[in-house]
Amino acid sequence: MAEIDLPSVKELLWHKMRGDLTTLVPWFASNDLLLCPTCGRALKYDEFSVEHIIPQQAVADDPAAVRVAISKNMRSGLTLLCKRTLVFSNKSIPGHGCNSWKGKYYDKYIREALQPDVLSRRFHSRHHMAVMAAGYLGLFREYGYQIALLPSGLLMRSQFFRPNSFVPEMPMEFQMLLTGGPPESYTEDDREYWSEPFKVGVEAGAAYVVMRHFSLRLPLSRDPTVPLARALPYAPPRYRLRLNLAAILD
Ligand SMILES: [Zn+2]
Repeated sequence: MAEIDLPSVKELLWHKMRGDLTTLVPWFASNDLLLCPTCGRALKYDEFSVEHIIPQQAVADDPAAVRVAISKNMRSGLTLLCKRTLVFSNKSIPGHGCNSWKGKYYDKYIREALQPDVLSRRFHSRHHMAVMAAGYLGLFREYGYQIALLPSGLLMRSQFFRPNSFVPEMPMEFQMLLTGGPPESYTEDDREYWSEPFKVGVEAGAAYVVMRHFSLRLPLSRDPTVPLARALPYAPPRYRLRLNLAAILD
């Protein structure tokens, strides 16, 4: 299946993400910046690149029938991540920002985790962290910047930069990962398994993210399905609706 050309995908993502961000933080309407969903820096268009959340190398391993039926971008799930050099404690990290960070620390492990024989392989903490990082980006892709800006988002973003172990603040209940095996062949009944890489559910204090055959719970400080109050929660007395009885009394 033909791929959509990447530059236009980037533009679409940029406008969608900026639209979402501006509704939450109106300050962004007066500039041309976007927050990186992982490092949180406010950066320009040229400092972002398209990120395949499930890496391209991983979806290249999908069965041939799947590759014919469903586009690569759809099977990956896309977002924008920054490509500006990361700096930790005044030290520059070689590479292209969060995009390179994910590529270096997680993409190989996401690919391995998605192999059909995952249950017979050695599965270690880096695989777990990689699936969590992808799960966070899947959750961000679904609900946008409110995920990144919540206290739980800050926790997940700290976790993103700790690829070998859990951050100490991560509650135990979110340190578990469930998995089964992927479908062995492609049928129309399985289409959603491949075409929608992240299925997200929400309950009090947690998000359930299913990434293909993995299921994980992620911390969530606020239910993103409940609309945010974007206007004053009360009406000033002068504007309050009052019964006008003048016509009746006349
Ligand atoms: Zn970044």
